[in-house]
Amino acid sequence: MITLGIESTAHTVALGIIDDKGKILADARDMYKTKKGGLIPLEVAKHHNKVFPELLKEVLKNIDAKDIDIISFSQGPGLSPCLLEGMRFAKDLSKKLNVPLIPVNHLIAHLEIGRLFSKAKDPIFILATGANTQIISLEGDRYRITGESMDIGIGNALDKFGRKIGLGFPAGPKIEELAKKGEYIELPYTVKGQDLVFAGLVTEAINKYKKGIKMEDLCYSLQETAFAMLCEATERAMAHCGKKEALLIGGVAANKRLMEMLDIMCKERNARFYSVPLKYSGDNAIMIGWLGILQYKSNKRYYDNLKLKDIDIKPGWRVDEVDVNWS
Ligand code: AMP
Ligand code: MG
Repeated sequence: MITLGIESTAHTVALGIIDDKGKILADARDMYKTKKGGLIPLEVAKHHNKVFPELLKEVLKNIDAKDIDIISFSQGPGLSPCLLEGMRFAKDLSKKLNVPLIPVNHLIAHLEIGRLFSKAKDPIFILATGANTQIISLEGDRYRITGESMDIGIGNALDKFGRKIGLGFPAGPKIEELAKKGEYIELPYTVKGQDLVFAGLVTEAINKYKKGIKMEDLCYSLQETAFAMLCEATERAMAHCGKKEALLIGGVAANKRLMEMLDIMCKERNARFYSVPLKYSGDNAIMIGWLGILQYKSNKRYYDNLKLKDIDIKPGWRVDEVDVNWS
């Protein structure tokens, strides 16, 4: 069985083809970036709309469209204009190829591709993306959130600071580079129970930048503080849920310092730390295709009868609202 996955929740627009053994057959992507300033949802959606046809051509270079059994797309969470573009493209394609359309939760797709591409069996998931920061574990038939950011995601926190100091989008990788030359200065550290708060930290870093503190020192300290907060909540979740593994996913999982800190924390408690290959930790369409296959195989009759007109986007969809009946 082969699926074509469609991703368009935020900055990345992507199409990917994967089979039910987890073999990747095609993977085409494009990312909306800026030199200055951040993401403007309507502009990003326009970009995605323009790029879709080129991406489709690219993924169908060596694959016959007739061999595609199902289409999967990111139904949410994400930026509404971008989700709408993805859904429109997905519905058109599903009609044209006359195959079922499987709507999937983008965040659960991050979790499932993490399970596919790492050896972790039953980890605490650290989902560190642009818009979302959650500590998650699979309990029965639900992904349960055992800790999360109360305001912005950790990636957005880095991007917001980066935007203010003129780094453009995405700022995460640039902050990681600058941090290598920085020294520690104290910034607000806010963990309440399992709740994390990043906005005050970012505001204080911006204020300190305006007062003339070195950019490198702020990048370093912002990372150290935000990542330590995440490590603290992860460690407590591991203790509470009795898990011996931690798996880091999401775009911020590209950060070597974050991986190092989580790895040290895990080693100290005789647990194992896992990450996913860089190419699949951030937004991609392979993960959307893979979750589509899992869902379709576990509920074939439902999806075969699902009507396109009954499918809509879900911009604020949470991971704990989905029944996990495929594992
Ligand atoms: P996602 O939403 O999962 O695609 O992740 C995108 C987020 O990852 C953006 O906020 C980026 O700034 C962030 N990001 C990407 N690479 C890095 C990195 N090396 N260090 C920190 N954050 C990163
Ligand atoms: Mg994502």
